[in-house]
Amino acid sequence: GGRTAPTTGLSICCAVYGRLPVPRMRTARLVVLVVVAVALGSLAAPEASTTETPRVVVVGGGLAGLSATLQLVADAGGEVQVVLLEKESKLGGNSAKASSGINALTPASGDSVDLYTNDTLVSGGGRSRTELVSKLVGESEDAVAFLASHGVQLGKLTQLGGHSAKRTHSNVAGPNVGSFIIRALSEAVKQLPQVNVVTSAKVKHLLVSGSKGEHRVAGVSYSTPAAGAESDDPASLPTDNHTLEADAVILATGGFGAERDMLRRYNSAVDGFATTNGQWATGDGMVMGHAIGGQLVDMDKIQIHPTGFVNPKDPQAGTKFLAPERLRGVGGILLNSFGKRFVNELGRRDYVTEVMLRQEGKTAWLLLGDVQAADFGEAALGFYAGKAGIATKGDSVEGIAAAIAVEADVLRTELDRYSSAVRSGQADEFGKTVFPNGAINPQGTMYVMKVTPVVHYTMGGLSIDQHARVLDTAGKAIPGLLAAGEVTGGVHGANRLGGNSLLDCTVFGRIA
Ligand SMILES: Cc1cc2nc3c(=O)[nH]c(=O)nc-3n(C[C@H](O)[C@H](O)[C@H](O)COP(=O)(O)OP(=O)(O)OC[C@H]3O[C@@H](n4cnc5c(N)ncnc54)[C@H](O)[C@@H]3O)c2cc1C
Repeated sequence: GGRTAPTTGLSICCAVYGRLPVPRMRTARLVVLVVVAVALGSLAAPEASTTETPRVVVVGGGLAGLSATLQLVADAGGEVQVVLLEKESKLGGNSAKASSGINALTPASGDSVDLYTNDTLVSGGGRSRTELVSKLVGESEDAVAFLASHGVQLGKLTQLGGHSAKRTHSNVAGPNVGSFIIRALSEAVKQLPQVNVVTSAKVKHLLVSGSKGEHRVAGVSYSTPAAGAESDDPASLPTDNHTLEADAVILATGGFGAERDMLRRYNSAVDGFATTNGQWATGDGMVMGHAIGGQLVDMDKIQIHPTGFVNPKDPQAGTKFLAPERLRGVGGILLNSFGKRFVNELGRRDYVTEVMLRQEGKTAWLLLGDVQAADFGEAALGFYAGKAGIATKGDSVEGIAAAIAVEADVLRTELDRYSSAVRSGQADEFGKTVFPNGAINPQGTMYVMKVTPVVHYTMGGLSIDQHARVLDTAGKAIPGLLAAGEVTGGVHGANRLGGNSLLDCTVFGRIA
């Protein structure tokens, strides 16, 4: 189709005429879209759409967007057109970076609905919305079955911090769990003739039709790089602007963990921390949803993950690789600069971070023995110690002690103390009661890596109900607008449990 006139946003009434700008669209049609400024309260009635097949625009190609797309086509029996707009050149977002796993209720490991719900609510510090948590937990087994139905087999089970049972599922072999999931779902989406995936397409605004108080979301405006434009700086590339009418829009644009101004504005205490998030995590969906009346909740609740890798070659880097929580989930221990343990490694993220920040240099050493390393995966650790240069592999206490600049005897004594705690089967001095894979074997191969707290996840976002509908400030659903994943708020409250985000994306993506 040809290009439409550029839109100037919602504060100006404009009519847009033209054929659809999206390639491969099966039902090309003449669209008359009346964009009505909510603020101006125009009484102009929206033009009825002439399409027979409903169209849904999904914004964002991470796990929430892909789950929404697949479920939508399945539920509609194919009678739907989905346009998935992704601003990056490939799909995946932060979802593709996930490295610990996805939670699901796991009765075989002593889990129960009450236990899982309680862990999530306690972690959320009283701020999670109970009806959303109830959906999250209640639909968790189905969510993992949905992934399995698309070829995502998750055969490994771990207990992460703040969880009372083993319920975090990840893949036995292959890449990190996020890539593993995204690859499979992207492949599945590409097979669907009802879906157009448009990459390098940045959504700028939500289009609204109808009069004030009666308005509904009726599409999006977005930009793509102008044909033939080339530049070393993508931000300076000229763009073509498009509008796209839709019966519903699903925002799946992720969080704002890479948007320095927003981080500072909503919580100045996180200023100065490096981030684990990709450059795309700029809160676009929150800004767009809020601009048309969506309520934002818990925007100041920003998760600082205790363990980002400190790369010795670039210790001050503003973006850091995450040292996955599963490193502690398989039994890795944390030592301070004096070679002493100082925390229950399996405590909740907010607690571990708080104690880490009190250690000298706000850093710690994460140490795995041979059994823990085998459980985590030697391939990934080999990558950390080799190409990535962020871990040291050693075969003796002396070697590891030298790497972390403490006396060998100090380290040996600390490993003995930990071993005694493991043998006692009692809570240790930090309240640790679960000791995955037992003691650290001082005679075996060990891996050690320097870690520091990093911005990791934004708990706040657009308020939704349990049907994934975006709510306005009066708590009323905004017609035509749904949202899922990190763009939303209210599920995780003040502190997200590890593994609950991939689940959130899958559960609420499918609901949306
Ligand atoms: C390093 C790392 C490890 C993690 N590990 C885990 C884990 O093991 N388990 C777990 O549960 N959680 C984990 N998380 C958190 C989890 O991965 C994310 O919170 C979750 O995947 C977010 O998914 P999403 O679909 O909401 O957003 P994303 O996956 O970030 O996808 C959003 C997409 O929207 C696109 N987009 C944004 N704005 C626009 C726009 N204006 N127009 C078009 N497209 C747009 C982005 O480019 C992006 O591709 C981890 C996070 C990180 C950073």
